[in-house]
Amino acid sequence: MKTVIIGAGAMGSLFGSLLTLSGEDVWLVDIWKDHINAIRSNGLSIEDRGKVQIIRMNATTDVTSIGKADLVIIFVKTYHTEKAVSDALILQKEDTVFLTLQNGLGNEETICKKVNRKKVILGVTGQGATLLGIGHIRHGGSGKTHLGELGGKITDRVTQIAQMFLKAGIETEVSSHIHDLVWEKLLVNVGINALAALTGLKNGQLLDYPETLRLMEALVSEAVEVARRKEIQIEGNPIDRVKAVIEATRENRCSMGQDLDYKRRTEIDAINGAVVREAARLGIPVPYNQAITDLVKAIEKSFLI
Ligand code: NAD
Repeated sequence: MKTVIIGAGAMGSLFGSLLTLSGEDVWLVDIWKDHINAIRSNGLSIEDRGKVQIIRMNATTDVTSIGKADLVIIFVKTYHTEKAVSDALILQKEDTVFLTLQNGLGNEETICKKVNRKKVILGVTGQGATLLGIGHIRHGGSGKTHLGELGGKITDRVTQIAQMFLKAGIETEVSSHIHDLVWEKLLVNVGINALAALTGLKNGQLLDYPETLRLMEALVSEAVEVARRKEIQIEGNPIDRVKAVIEATRENRCSMGQDLDYKRRTEIDAINGAVVREAARLGIPVPYNQAITDLVKAIEKSFLI
């Protein structure tokens, strides 16, 4: 099985290196020339719990040089998905599968604009990684990865991808209700990312102040109402789940926080912004999500001045 990963940042490089180490035929593709050149010349340097490993792997900026792929994994930021998928169409043959493990909502729709939806598989991952510099990443955490067909069937192809991940040490389960799991992760991102980004706080501090705790609960409650109206099954108490994730990542500055700190574009449109869009379709007011989306987008615009 030839796997091509589009987007060789933190997560693409992590999955690429784990799959390469397990003996898979993997290619990393990125538009970032210096990073790809460094991986080609010196290998990818991956830090994991203090240990550094150098991994030799296939990497290119020229997607046309690879030939056809059996599996294409999309690992760009959500706002680059459309362009990345367009670039990746050249990899396609009759039975190529396109898998997204990106955060947020809307990736499925964006990919399906370009690719026949029969070829698309959805996933969520609890793996975490940080890009430390050119050719250099850190493996942060190792939560479960879930994969699922859009229609919920447990097919041979999704099972085969899960087995390939398992063999690479990526704890993976196939799900017949992947959209529910995408929302479950979305609710966590809705409660943490923009709030921590705007306040400048580390994740754990969101629980330490009554103001941020109240805001977190309001953001998540609005999103839960949207999910329920869309007949998404949310197991357990989502606010408790967000609190548990915050506790487990107490010392982290979330990725959206790092994006604002370094004056970069964020994935707000796929997170709180997606809740606002879905709510508008259903006619549900979501003032907290609207306000936090507007604030993040206004800050992003100030970067362009
Ligand atoms: P990243 O910014 O580290 O990497 C994205 C890479 O995509 C960059 O190297 C960029 O140059 C490349 N890229 C952009 N356009 C491209 C194109 N057209 N073709 C090829 N490459 C292109 O981002 P990341 O942290 O790896 O996150 C990727 C996705 O995974 C996001 O949706 C994120 O929310 C999600 N995610 C991240 C984590 C994490 O811990 N970092 C965990 C779970 C999910």
